[in-house]
Amino acid sequence: MCTLCGNTQHPTLVNAYGAHAGDKPLEPMRIARRAPGSHDIQIDIAYCGICHSDLHQVRAEWAGTHFPCVPGHEIVGRVSSVGQQVTEFQIGDLVGVGCIVDSCQYCEECDAGLENYCDGMVGTYNSPTADEPGWTLGGYSQKIVVHERYALRVRHPEEQLAAVAPLLCAGITTYSPLRHWNTGPGKKVGVVGIGGLGHMGIKLAHAMGAHVVAFTTSESKREAAKALGADETVVSRNAEEMAAHLKSFDLILNTVAAPHDLDALLALLKRDGVLALVGAPASPHPSPNVFNLITKRRAIAGSMIGGIPETQEMLDFCARHGIVSDIELIRADEINAAYERMLKGDVRYRFVIDIASLGI
Ligand code: NAP
Ligand code: ZN
Repeated sequence: MCTLCGNTQHPTLVNAYGAHAGDKPLEPMRIARRAPGSHDIQIDIAYCGICHSDLHQVRAEWAGTHFPCVPGHEIVGRVSSVGQQVTEFQIGDLVGVGCIVDSCQYCEECDAGLENYCDGMVGTYNSPTADEPGWTLGGYSQKIVVHERYALRVRHPEEQLAAVAPLLCAGITTYSPLRHWNTGPGKKVGVVGIGGLGHMGIKLAHAMGAHVVAFTTSESKREAAKALGADETVVSRNAEEMAAHLKSFDLILNTVAAPHDLDALLALLKRDGVLALVGAPASPHPSPNVFNLITKRRAIAGSMIGGIPETQEMLDFCARHGIVSDIELIRADEINAAYERMLKGDVRYRFVIDIASLGI
């Protein structure tokens, strides 16, 4: 509903933070949100996490960014309006929105609850939509309107809400491959890169009962990784520390946001071990040596976020185990500085924007 005149039909203008070009900083802007359709909910956003994918896209490091670009797909807030046929949510509910706001709803992937692999998946920002301006605009904004099918219920206590936001991407992106490759007691799991995704991967793999080894390039994170739940930490630039783990892992989850040597990690997998890539660098990794694969039937795989049912499962798992993200809460006018710190690996471990700082 329009906050000025009460009209339910025309879009509402809200404050947002975004960029007009890949080489421009993010700045305040006004964007339109559609009036909720019959199956839509409108959410007053309280917090939005900053994912490294936001930086890749708003700086046009991946192909196909539309400008203006308003990033943000780690969204939490309260339902402020519901369409007439909404059944799952009521005004006042605590909810989240992750990386998906629409999909075709009839393909094999959607039927399986794997909307993340639907060819028609609509991302929360930078995806085609009928709404103005023709592509989706994300959660660095005061409100968002989504079909109820793509909203998630938050069961954590409200005081943890800011720290829940990163679960909507960093949480599900690590939970899904950990589950898919059967993480649990008796399994040895590596997590490479202790950033937003990696620190969630450590917490989740630990909660699932695996023996967890964290790999970092930052000596300063060695002890901190143990506090997150890592049984051991390896500084990956140290060849001796790496050699101590040769041929021993069932799964290595690689969250690193830059190209690097995969052979050093493949050598640590035991027979049938899997190196699962979730990091999405702007340029390719150097090709791995095929002998590192064939000699132990090892595999390199990829995984992208997770479907809506599994995202709800992950949120409920985290609520049951008391898991949230470790965050640094920032104002919107600190986003550009936060991006620079994220590039240096200097964040413990996720920046989250206090959306109240966008004003009224
Ligand atoms: P992040 O917070 O910046 O964390 C990345 C971590 O990787 C850094 O903290 C650092 O950890 C390590 N790292 C960075 N540069 C490195 C280098 N040159 N060599 C080795 N390690 C390096 O980023 P994030 O938000 O976790 O995202 C990580 C990647 O996943 C990004 O590419 C993002 O786009 C992608 N992503 C993919 C999906 C998906 O669905 N597959 C979803 C979300 C994000 P240490 O200091 O511990 O070394
Ligand atoms: Zn993300």
